[in-house]
Amino acid sequence: MKKPELHVLEFLDGRPVRGECTICPYPDVYFAVTRVGTAEDNQAILDRQFSEHIAVVHSR
Ligand SMILES: [Zn+2]
Repeated sequence: MKKPELHVLEFLDGRPVRGECTICPYPDVYFAVTRVGTAEDNQAILDRQFSEHIAVVHSR
């Protein structure tokens, strides 16, 4: 089975703001940062949303 990964779709001023799961269909499933902080903050927010997505959808 293919392993799901976080793929960043969109950057704003070098900061990741939108990402997708490489297995789930975009735009049905995506992860977005609404509050823009540092690049590290944004990456952490996307990583956390993706981790929760993995736990809910891909943990079987
Ligand atoms: Zn997924």
